[in-house]
Amino acid sequence: MRDLVLVVNAGSSSIKLALYRVERRGLSLEARGLAEGLGGKGQGRIRITDGHDATLLDEALPSAEHAPAMDRLLQWLDSQDDGSGLVAVGHRVVHGGPERREPVVLSPAVLNELALLEPLAPLHQMHNLAPPARLTEARPELLQIACFDTAFHRTQPAVAQQFALPRRYTSQGVLRYGFHGLSYQSIAAWLRRHRPDLHAGHVVVAHLGNGASLCGMRAGRSLATSMGFTALDGLPMGTRCGSLDPGVVLYLMDHEGMGPREIEDLLYRRSGLLGVSGISQDMRELLQSGEKPAAEAVELYCYRAAREIASVATGIGGLDAVVFTAGIGENAAAVREQICRHLAWLGVRLDRTANAENAQTVSSADSRVPVLVVATDEEAEIARQTLALA
Ligand code: ADP
Repeated sequence: MRDLVLVVNAGSSSIKLALYRVERRGLSLEARGLAEGLGGKGQGRIRITDGHDATLLDEALPSAEHAPAMDRLLQWLDSQDDGSGLVAVGHRVVHGGPERREPVVLSPAVLNELALLEPLAPLHQMHNLAPPARLTEARPELLQIACFDTAFHRTQPAVAQQFALPRRYTSQGVLRYGFHGLSYQSIAAWLRRHRPDLHAGHVVVAHLGNGASLCGMRAGRSLATSMGFTALDGLPMGTRCGSLDPGVVLYLMDHEGMGPREIEDLLYRRSGLLGVSGISQDMRELLQSGEKPAAEAVELYCYRAAREIASVATGIGGLDAVVFTAGIGENAAAVREQICRHLAWLGVRLDRTANAENAQTVSSADSRVPVLVVATDEEAEIARQTLALA
């Protein structure tokens, strides 16, 4: 019986798999797979757990290459199921370009079209497309579907998507696309189910993970975001700079003699928390470090996030709730505390104890704006979208 949906989320250093069983009440998680430590010099590692987090497989990979890691994950999957039970495979694809508002069935032609968007998401796009390309060759009969991080933001008004450049660049597709859309859809679905009062209002969601961005939504629709043409804009991130005066890029070219690839490396891989602290890109490490540059990196991160939250709130015409999500948003109480301190003038107040415990509502009873912590589940969102299209 065909009742399984496989989700593949392949990034630069990891491949995540999630296997769901379609049940009458919805999707239930059967297994999760993670191949990590990829793309570097060392050895990758693969771990598979069941729906209750019990380990089913934990082994070192012979190398840090992506393709053998994906093969090993699929081999494990085959040992559980010969593939005949799969309804479809859903892939996370960061960039869908200006037109794609919905998931799409992956044919070789669509794969080629999406590969052309690589310059707009150099850290992600090719990694996202490698597993479906491999699967298309190995299992041409499988239904494969791409779910996009940009699609959710295509509901934004033109003014929110436009740069103040001559119009011809806008018509060429030089737009604010926005990213992390699958995460925001997952949060919107949560709000609709658990807090319909807030879902109907003006909500700013802060997705603070290795990548970080904000989305302003109203009635579950994206109206504004902090990320732009690429996933470099907006908030400072683990290794990305976030908003930067484009004059800095001109300065680096003219006065430091840097070329495009070198600047790309600087802005995508050597900036953000890592660049400012000189210690780590990992928020947990920075919060535990007693070093001054670590504290300064966290301070800048929180200051920028708060400024951008106010900007996005203006873009959506109000602020009825702030939702924190992803690794830092869900776990780093000190970061939420610093960001919300900057937002005190908007009437944002945290409850210290609730915040320290990562409770669902971390604002105090007298806060004008409720502040929530909600776990994002991009894989479940991909599974839901994949099943809907399949
Ligand atoms: P990705 O974007 O790769 O999915 P995550 O959403 O897992 O990333 O977020 C990774 C970030 O979350 C890292 O900076 C990590 O240090 C941070 N993080 C995870 N757990 C904690 C914690 N308990 N306290 C502070 N930061 C945390």
